[in-house]
Amino acid sequence: MELLATPTVRLSLYDKGTTIREIALERIKVKAEPEREDLEDPFIIYDLGDVVAKDNQWREMLPNIDTFFAVKSNPDPVFLRLLLGLGRGFDCSSKNEIKMVLDLGVSPDRIIFAHPCKQESHLRFAREKGVRLMTFDTEEELHKVKRVHPDAKLILRVRFDFLKMPIKFGCRESQVRPLLELAKNMGLSVTGVSFYVGSVNTISPQVFVQAIQHSRPIFKAGRELGLEMDLLDIGGGFPGNLHTEEAFEKLAEAVREALEEHFPPSSGVTVIAEPGSFYTRSAGYLVANVMAKRIDRPNKQDETINSTTGSPVWMYYLNVGVHNAFGLDYVDCFLKRPELLRQEEPGEQQLQLKPSCLWGPTCHPKDVIFDKCMMPEMESGDFVMFHDMGCYVKSRVSEFNGFEIPQTCYIAPREIRPILKQVFSAGKNDVSVCGCRF
Ligand SMILES: *Cc1c(COP(=O)(O)O)cnc(C)c1O
Repeated sequence: MELLATPTVRLSLYDKGTTIREIALERIKVKAEPEREDLEDPFIIYDLGDVVAKDNQWREMLPNIDTFFAVKSNPDPVFLRLLLGLGRGFDCSSKNEIKMVLDLGVSPDRIIFAHPCKQESHLRFAREKGVRLMTFDTEEELHKVKRVHPDAKLILRVRFDFLKMPIKFGCRESQVRPLLELAKNMGLSVTGVSFYVGSVNTISPQVFVQAIQHSRPIFKAGRELGLEMDLLDIGGGFPGNLHTEEAFEKLAEAVREALEEHFPPSSGVTVIAEPGSFYTRSAGYLVANVMAKRIDRPNKQDETINSTTGSPVWMYYLNVGVHNAFGLDYVDCFLKRPELLRQEEPGEQQLQLKPSCLWGPTCHPKDVIFDKCMMPEMESGDFVMFHDMGCYVKSRVSEFNGFEIPQTCYIAPREIRPILKQVFSAGKNDVSVCGCRF
């Protein structure tokens, strides 16, 4: 019986100066010679170098804020192992997420159960495994915790009005005091405060500053009640798209200043964060195939997408859509027009943009990626590449209508191989890193 199998991370190491476009084209070429059954199937490239670079940037800009990676943004086992090796903790929302990270060898005290409304069996699981840190935002949850997991260390999740977040989670500021009083009277341990500003593309630093400022009196109130509150959790929402390094720096600077003012070291408060997309969004590249094409030339009376202008639309049917890759809200918020991938250099013809529509593959009429965008003219069989696809993609896809979920392949710049070798052997299971061709 082989109990001590050594899992291996197979990844392609690339040399400095190689572009992701070249890597994607290389993979397509390898699959085409000899032609493989999966030639046209979609795939996601994850660049581990990007995650390491993000972590370095965080350490440089916010050295005093420990991070707990939001697992929901991308529970890919290689990302999780990498972040564990880099010394990061984990923000989990369910029993399965907790189990996933415990199985990698994460210590229970490096996990936050950051779902304020927990299923009771999940809470029981947390108690059995020694996961104590968790959020709450209602009286009902306090009673549940008292019954099921009385040793929990609770973090009050607050939804400040100015955050303009949906009312789903977080107590209102007016509920803060009654909740703290109740927790105190029940003999529960409240250790801190958390907020989440939301996953918007570019969050203004001012929002973070204001939330930090409004958290301060909550600590005062709690301490007056005799609660030992010493943890501020500033949540996620840090920008993770390509080319947002500057936006992150500005945000980090504002956060640092606000913390210096409201939570200086003398306050005795430790600050943590739960970034998800920050670590993973720009690390993912999705490559899809143009399955079919139609040029729609509407009549004036037609109820087609372009009926208002009556001019033709170049419509393409990709093998990725809202069901097997994007999710509905992703399409609205984050997506940029994909890049056409062809082995030869782009010619004159290719530079000419045409009014286009990109459909997903399923028969669902709402399975559309862009109903209006400008694209070079493409042909059936062409490949396109979407950027910023490293989070909230593979964690929520389905095989609706039988279309494949994108395969995953990992790449890393050759120069970080020593770091990878080191971090991948830091977990419970020794993991070796080996190079591979696609
Ligand atoms: C989703 C979520 C995060 C991560 O958000 P990002 O915007 O991906 O950084 C962090 N904290 C909580 C409570 C969340 O729900």
